[in-house]
Order: sequence, then C-alpha cells, then structure tokens
Amino acid sequence: LDPRLVSVRASTLGGQLTLLMIRDVTEQERLDQMRRDFVANTSHELKTPVGAVSLLAEAIESAADDPAQVRIFASRISAEATRLAQLTGRIMSLSRLQASDGVVDFSVVALDEVITASIEGHAVQADSAGVELVRGGDRGAHVRGDAQILIEAVGNLVANAILYSPRGSRVGVGVTIEGETVEIAVSDQGIGITESDRERVFERFYRADEARSRRTGGTGLGLSIVKHATQRHGGEVRLWSRPGRGSTFTMVLPRIDATAPDAEKKTKKK
Ligand code: ADP
Repeated sequence: LDPRLVSVRASTLGGQLTLLMIRDVTEQERLDQMRRDFVANTSHELKTPVGAVSLLAEAIESAADDPAQVRIFASRISAEATRLAQLTGRIMSLSRLQASDGVVDFSVVALDEVITASIEGHAVQADSAGVELVRGGDRGAHVRGDAQILIEAVGNLVANAILYSPRGSRVGVGVTIEGETVEIAVSDQGIGITESDRERVFERFYRADEARSRRTGGTGLGLSIVKHATQRHGGEVRLWSRPGRGSTFTMVLPRIDATAPDAEKKTKKK
C-alpha cells in the first residue's frame, strides 16, 4: 500500500482508512496462506517418490542374489526418479511464473514455431499411446511473449490431451486468428471433465480423478502452469468439455503484427 495514498485517504476519508488497511491485511493473509499451502502440498508431493525410492533401494539390498528382482526394482527407481524430475521442474516453473518479479523474457514469438515444438516434443508420447496428433488452423500469427514458457504451456495441454484419450483417437492442435487476438486450441476425444471438476482443474495439485491421474503419472501442476503462463501474456484460458466426449482447452492471447516496423522495438522485459 502506497503510504502517500494512505495519508491522502486518511485526511480526506477519515474512517475509511481502517477499512482500507483491513482489506490490505486480508489480502496479505490470503497470499501468506497460499504460500503456506504451496509449501505444504509441495513437500507432501515430493515425499511420495522420495519414500518410494528409499523403500526400493532397501528391497534391492535384500534381493541382491536375485538378478531378475533387482532389475525390476531398479527400473521402478528410475521411474520414480523421472517423476521427481518432472515434479521439481514443474514446481520451479510455477513459482517462477507466480513471482511478481519472475523472469519473463518478452520478444516477438512466431506461434508456428511454438506449435511445432510442442507437437514434436510429444510425438513419442502420442505414438506409444496410439493417439494421432493433427495440426490445423491459421499460420503466421505472432504474439509478444516468452517462447519457452509458451512451448511449455502448449506442451502441457498436448501431454494431457494424449494422457486422457483412448487409443485410436485424435488430438487437434490449432491456431485461430480472431482480430486482435489469437487462439491456441488443443482438443481431444478423451474422457472429458465433469462440470464441478472444470471449476477446479486449474488449481495447483488438483486432479479430477486422483487415483487415475496418479497412475497416469500426473503432477496436478500442468494446468496451473498453463493458466499462469497465459495470464503472464495478458491472455486467458477457456475450457470446453463433455464427460465421455472430450475436451478443448483454448489459450486466448493478444496478437501482434510482426511486420509492423515497431514490433520488435516495443518488445520489453517484464
Ligand atoms: P496432471 O499432471 O495430473 O495431468 P494437470 O494440472 O495437468 O495435472 O491437470 C489436472 C487434472 O485435470 C488432471 O489430473 C485430470 O484429472 C484433468 N485433466 C486435465 N486435462 C485433461 C484432459 N485433456 N482430459 C480429461 N481430463 C483432464
């Protein structure tokens, strides 16, 4: 709260000062609570794979004379390590995005390249899940933003779409230019999301179906990253879904004309 604002309001508004300060304290408490929840949830999420790794290491010790068992336990340790790496990577992305002074490197970004990278990054996952990735829509759109963050966000949507889809289905990734904005849509023909879950899937660590998404290796952070990344770019995320029919996640972003002479000049660090 700006102290000058307080003194002006104090002298002109008298009693309203108390109200202002209460509101400020409440906001601060809310942020503190969010931070505490984040730390608590994070520690809880990290404990699970760390605990599994130490149990598996003990199991290897006691199965030392059974090479087949040792191989099974070792490959499970490796799977838990991969999960830990994914989890810590996502936790770092999210805290960077949420920090008010987070490093977001803004420049002119060609969405064609973002889409290509997001699709190529998930080709192997799509292949082994038997899901076809289909690219469509408009080409040549640009936004002002951070390419790495956008690739991570679109990549999370593509990964989820594959994860929650049956074999033989299609996942569409497309860009639509709508005047001053541009929409990046990722749609699937998968399990869909119920109405009550649609309100909550963007929350950190929320999983619509805890047991299933744990089995499929989810972290509950992917969509939270998508939401914060989109907001950092001055946009918003929309979700359409019908249980049993599929889902479409759309990132709506402000578009820029990359051919305008001042497109690069206006680019700034934020
Ligand atoms: P996770 O890493 O668990 O997938 P996310 O934050 O990416 O975490 O997603 C949160 C939850 O939203 C998931 O656990 C899943 O229940 C649901 N969800 C996300 N994307 C889809 C989708 N394309 N189809 C169905 N459910 C989805």
